[in-house]
Amino acid sequence: MLETGVILFVSFGYMGLLFAIAHYGDKRADAGRSIISNPYIYALSLAVYCTAWTFYGSVGLAVRSGLGFLTIYIGPTLMALLGWMVWQKIIRISKVHRITSIADFIASRYGKSTTLGGIVTIIAVIGIIPYIALQLKAISTGFFLINQYPEISVSFHYSEIPIIGDTAFYIALLLAIFAILFGTRHLDAAERHEGLVAAIAFESIVKLAATLTVGIFVTYVIHNGFGDLFQKAAEYADAKNALSGDSGSVSSVIFDKYLLIKGQGNSYTDWSIYLLISMLAIIFLPRQFQVAVVENVNEEHLNKAIWLFPLYLLAINIFVLPVAFSGVLRFPDGSIDADTFVLTLPMAERQQLIALFVYLGGMSAATGMVIVETIALSTMICNDLVMPVLLRLPIETLGLRQDYSGLLLTIRRCSIVLVLLLGYAYFRTIGEFYALVSIGLMSFALVAQFAPAMLGGIFWKGGTRSGAICGLIAGFSVWVYTLFLPSLVQAGILSQDFVNRGPFSIELLKPFQLFGLQHFNRISHSVFWSMLVNIGFYIGVSIFSRPRAIDHTQAALFVDVFRYSGVAGESHFWRGTAHLPDLKSLLNRFLGKRRTDAALSDYADKRKLSWNYLVTADADLVSYAERLLAGAIGSASARVMVASVVKEESLGIEEVLNILDETRQVIAYSRELEKATAELQEANQRLQDLDRLKDEFISTVTHELRTPLTSVRSLAEILHTNPSIDGNQHKSFTGIIIKESERLTRLINQVLDYEKIESAQMDWVITSADIKEIIQDAIASTRQLVEDKNITIDYELNDHPPPISGDRDRLVQVMVNLISNAVKFCDADRGKITIRLTTSDNQVQVDVQDNGIGINAEDQSKIFEKFQQVKDPARGRPYGTGIGLTISKRIIDFHHGRIWVNSTPGKGSTFSFSLPATLEAALSH
Ligand code: ADP
Repeated sequence: MLETGVILFVSFGYMGLLFAIAHYGDKRADAGRSIISNPYIYALSLAVYCTAWTFYGSVGLAVRSGLGFLTIYIGPTLMALLGWMVWQKIIRISKVHRITSIADFIASRYGKSTTLGGIVTIIAVIGIIPYIALQLKAISTGFFLINQYPEISVSFHYSEIPIIGDTAFYIALLLAIFAILFGTRHLDAAERHEGLVAAIAFESIVKLAATLTVGIFVTYVIHNGFGDLFQKAAEYADAKNALSGDSGSVSSVIFDKYLLIKGQGNSYTDWSIYLLISMLAIIFLPRQFQVAVVENVNEEHLNKAIWLFPLYLLAINIFVLPVAFSGVLRFPDGSIDADTFVLTLPMAERQQLIALFVYLGGMSAATGMVIVETIALSTMICNDLVMPVLLRLPIETLGLRQDYSGLLLTIRRCSIVLVLLLGYAYFRTIGEFYALVSIGLMSFALVAQFAPAMLGGIFWKGGTRSGAICGLIAGFSVWVYTLFLPSLVQAGILSQDFVNRGPFSIELLKPFQLFGLQHFNRISHSVFWSMLVNIGFYIGVSIFSRPRAIDHTQAALFVDVFRYSGVAGESHFWRGTAHLPDLKSLLNRFLGKRRTDAALSDYADKRKLSWNYLVTADADLVSYAERLLAGAIGSASARVMVASVVKEESLGIEEVLNILDETRQVIAYSRELEKATAELQEANQRLQDLDRLKDEFISTVTHELRTPLTSVRSLAEILHTNPSIDGNQHKSFTGIIIKESERLTRLINQVLDYEKIESAQMDWVITSADIKEIIQDAIASTRQLVEDKNITIDYELNDHPPPISGDRDRLVQVMVNLISNAVKFCDADRGKITIRLTTSDNQVQVDVQDNGIGINAEDQSKIFEKFQQVKDPARGRPYGTGIGLTISKRIIDFHHGRIWVNSTPGKGSTFSFSLPATLEAALSH
C-alpha cells in the first residue's frame, strides 16, 4: 500500500530537486562557470521533445496502430541528420539578431513586422495550450492511478474530482512558480536560462531511466526477453483468432500487423504526413525553438547533438512494443487504457518502487515540456503581443516610468500564470475526451504552419510580409475548420451534424473530407489542405506584393546570414546616429542600469573606446543597442523604440520638407542647366553646319559664275581679235554670249532674291492672277532649255481654275524653277515632263512630273532647305546653287500654300504645290 502522503512527498520532493538543480545552474552561470556548456547537456535538453505523450502515449499508439508510433521519432531523427543546416542557419540568424522566439524570428525576417509577430504568437498559444493541457492530464492520471495502488482503477472521471483535490492543479501552480523563478529571473538580452536548461536535461535523464527500467522489467523479468515476448504475443493472437474467428479486434490486428506500416487506420500517406509534421515540429515547436536556438550556448554543440539526440530517441522507444504486447497479454479484456500500460504493468506485478519511479518519469516528461513551453510562450506574449500594444499607448501612460524592466518581467510572469491556467482549464473541459495522441498531433499540425514562412524566409529572398501573413492566416483557418471545430463536436459543444453531414448539409464541406478528399485520416487530411493553402498563399502573394525597403534588407540579412555575420556578428545596415545619453537611458529603462552598464562597457572594451569622450552613438553602436533591446522586448518593438531616439528621426516635418525643397530646387536647376547646355550644343552644331554649307555655297556660286563668265570672256576675245569673222559665226558667238549673260543674270538674281527673302525685304506685288497663265509663261520662258535637251512636255490644264491673288512674277519664278529642275534631271531625248493643274473647292494644285533620276527618301526632306543639293557619288555635284527650291518654298509659304515632292529614285519625281483659291483673307495679315 502506497500512502498518498508518500506519493505527494515524492512528487513535491522531485519538484524541489528540480528547483535545486536550476538554482545551482543559475549560480554557476552567474559565476561564469557554466554547467550546461557542452553538447551532451544540449542534446539532453533537446529531448524535451519527448513529453508525457511519448512516455505514456507511445505504447497506446502502438497498441492502436502498430509501428505508426515510430513516425513521430523518425521525423526528428531525419531532421537532425539531414536537415541540420536548417537548424544551424536558424541558430546563427537568431544569435546575430538576438531573436528570442519563433514569433520574433518570423516578425524580424519580414521587416520587423509587429502584425506578423502577433499572428504567430496567437497561433502558437492556440496550438500549444491543448498540448500543455495534455501534460497536466498525464500528471493527473498518473497520480490517480498510483494513488489507488495496489488496486488498478479503471474508471474515474475528472468531473468527480474537485480542483482542490487535484494534484495536477498544484503541480501546475508549482510549475508556474518554477517557470517564473528560473524563466524570468531577470531580463537578459540573450534570453538564456542556464538553470532551467540544467533542470530540463536532468528531467530528460529521469524519463529515459524510467522508460528503460519499466522496459527491462517487463521484457526480462515478467517475460524472458524479446523473443519470448513476441512468441507469446503471436500465440495469443492465433488463439484469439481461432476462438472468435474475429480478426478485427484490437489485439489481433496489432499482432497480425505489428511490423507493417499499414496498420489499422494507417496508410502510407498518413505515415508520410506524420513524418513530415514531426520533422517540422522538432524545429518549430516553441519549446524546441527555445532549447535548440535560444538556449544554445555554442553553435558547435549542434554537431554532436545531431547524432546524440537521435540516439536518445531510439533508446526511449526500444521498449515500446514489448510493453505494448505485455500490456495486451496482461489485460486481455481491454478494460485498461493502453496509454497507461507503462504504469499499470508494474502496479499489477506489485512492484511499488518501479511504479513510483515510472510515475516520476511521467511527471518529469510532463513538467519539462510544460516549463519550457510556458516560458517560450510568455516571451512571445510579452514581446510580440503585449509590448507592441503598450509601446503604442500615449506616452503619458508609460513615459513617467524610469524603468520598464520590472514591467516587462511582470508581464511575462502574468503570461506564464495565464498560460498554465488556460492549459489547466482546457484539460478540465475538453481535454478529457481525447486520447493523448490526438491532442499532440493537433498541435504538430498547427505548428507546421510556421514552416513556409520560416523556411521560405531563410532560403528565399522573395518571400514578403504580406505573403507570410496571408499564408499563415489561410493555413490557420483551414486547421481551425478541419481539426479545431470538430474537436468541439467531440466535446459536445457543436452538433454532430457538422462532422457527419457538413455545415448546412453541404457534403463538399465536411471537415474531415473537404472537397471530397478521402482515404486520409483526420490529421493528415488537415495537414494536406492547410499546408496547400498556406504554401500557395505564401508564394502567390509574395510574388505579387511589393516589398518595402526594410523587407529587402531583412531578407538579405537572413538568407545570406553566413555572408553578413562574418565580422563578429555586426551588421552595418543602420544609418542613424543618436545622442548617447538618450540611447543609454532607453537601455536603462528596459534592461536595468546594471545590465546596460555591463553591456556598454563590454562594447567599449572590445573597441577600445572611452565613454568619457563619447557623446554621439554611431551607427554601429545604435544597431548594437537595438539588438540588445530586441533580446528584451522583441525586434519589432526594439525598432520602434530605437527609432524614437535616433537623430535622423527627430527632425521636424518642416525641416524635412525644407531639405526636400532645397534638393528639389537643386535638381530642377541642374536639369535646366543640362537643358541649356544641350540647346547650346545643338545651336553650335547648327551654326557649324550652316557655316560649312555657306562655304559650299560660296564655292558653288563662284563656280557657277565662273563657267559662263569664262565662255563670255573667251568668245568676246575671239570677236575682239578677229574683226573679220564671218557673219554666221559672229551671230552664233554673240548668241552664246547673250545666253550666258542671261544665265549669269538669273544666277545673280536668284542670289539677290534669296538674300531679300531671307532678310524679309522682298517687295511683293499682289494682284489677282490666273494660275494657267502663270504656268504658260513659265513654259514659254523655259522652252529653249526643253528644246535643247529634246524633252517632251505634256500638259493637263483643261480645268478652268478659280483666280488666285498673289505675286504673279514670283509664282512664275517657282514654276520656272520646277520645270528647269525637271529638265536638268531628265535624260536628253528620252525625258518627259507632265504638267498638271487640278482645282478643288478652295485650292489649286500644280504638279510637275518628270521621269528623271528621282530623289531618295532621305534627301526629299532636305532639298527644300537652303544650299542643299543631292550629292550623288556617281554623277558628282549637280549644277546649280541649291537655293532654287528654298526660294520656291519661301514664295509658296508667303502665299499660304504648300510645296512638296513625291519621288522614286530611278523612276522620276513629282514636285507639287497647292495654293488657296481665294487669298484676300489670307493675305490681309
Ligand atoms: P538649284 O537651284 O541648284 O537647282 P534646287 O534648290 O532647285 O537647286 O534643288 C536642290 C536639289 O534638289 C538639286 O540640287 C537636286 O539635287 C534636287 N532636285 C531638284 N529637283 C529635282 C528633280 N526634278 N529631280 C531630281 N532631283 C531634283
